[in-house]
Amino acid sequence: MSDSGGSVSGQGEGAGPAGPPGAGDGTRAVRAGLPKPVRHEPTLPGPVFAAHFHLPGEVTGPYAYGRDDNPTWTLLERAIGELEAPGREGVETLVFASGMAAVSSVLFSQLSAGDTVVLPEDGYQALPLVRGQLEAYGIEVRTAPTRGDAQLDVLDGARLLWIESPSNPGLDVCDIRRLVEAAHARGALVAVDNTLATPLGQRPLELGADFSVASGTKQLTGHGDVLLGYVTGHDTQAMAAVRHWRKIVGAIAGPMEAWLAHRSIATLQLRVDRQNASALVLAGALRKRPEVTGLRYPGLPDDPSHKVASQQMRRYGCVVSFTLPTRARADRFLDALRLVDDATSFGGLRSTAERRGRWGGDPVPEGFIRFSVGAEDPEDLVADVLRALDESDS
Ligand SMILES: *Cc1c(COP(=O)(O)O)cnc(C)c1O
Repeated sequence: MSDSGGSVSGQGEGAGPAGPPGAGDGTRAVRAGLPKPVRHEPTLPGPVFAAHFHLPGEVTGPYAYGRDDNPTWTLLERAIGELEAPGREGVETLVFASGMAAVSSVLFSQLSAGDTVVLPEDGYQALPLVRGQLEAYGIEVRTAPTRGDAQLDVLDGARLLWIESPSNPGLDVCDIRRLVEAAHARGALVAVDNTLATPLGQRPLELGADFSVASGTKQLTGHGDVLLGYVTGHDTQAMAAVRHWRKIVGAIAGPMEAWLAHRSIATLQLRVDRQNASALVLAGALRKRPEVTGLRYPGLPDDPSHKVASQQMRRYGCVVSFTLPTRARADRFLDALRLVDDATSFGGLRSTAERRGRWGGDPVPEGFIRFSVGAEDPEDLVADVLRALDESDS
């Protein structure tokens, strides 16, 4: 670890060792964002609960008021930055109260009346709500599907391209490098929603994007007990606008949530590897079932997303989606599961599944199931799923 100085993250003085350059994901995850060791101090300092900080005289230094900065955020932001853009200088990360706070901070800080933005047609279910608000502010919104890089066709004149790959819940993938190149050639900025992949699955900034934005509520924190979001970017001016947005809207992460998130990142590689491997096993078991159609998992070699995913992703995620013949069958299946909670969200240690159509926001069949694979033993999980499929067949 001798050559692992404070500049690993490019985030300045005090950055602790995140492992030697080129260290593996597990090494980097357990050390991400840690401060330099200080005698009698904990490895990861506890949450700093402070609305204001002592500030005699002139306003200097970062910590003055708790809506602007907090030392617990600083360590978490450093950790996320080290994973999103390892070894890269000049990258900044800002954490938010939720994924939607992070998403909105980019959209609303980068766009103003008269601008055009391209969103995915099949993106996260709250995006259409954001769309309505953008349009109310005089911003033109165009949409196109993720699949087939269809957003390319509506890029002309856009100021910002918003990509979600893999898309949630459809699991389509687009060629991020190709879209970035086309967007940049037209002078547009590019943001990628990296929630499903996590920074260990995909590094949007390395693929050329200007922003990597994610909900930390899902697999990044992985315990289903925290809402959080973040934006990582390299454009100083654009990130200053995002920071300003956080300050004026005040959608800030609580210190406890930020600390829990940082604590959870230490196990990110363990969780992601286990859950993703089990997702592939489950997908393999589901494909043998006659009642399962529309099975999607980007890690399956013959999945429509696999080729592009394998060019730009390092891991394929823990979400598997498929369709059962009817809404009633899907409901019976969910009801029969014992190891899998019928709940929304994804990426947690405990498997969850839901009939996505119950929300009404996604263009999916009534029997469509979004399945998030947890850290249970894969054989137990597969046995539970196969039993529930059998029992729901009546
Ligand atoms: C959950 C989710 C969000 C929103 O995150 P919250 O933390 O729930 O606000 C955004 N994008 C994607 C892809 C998500 O899955």
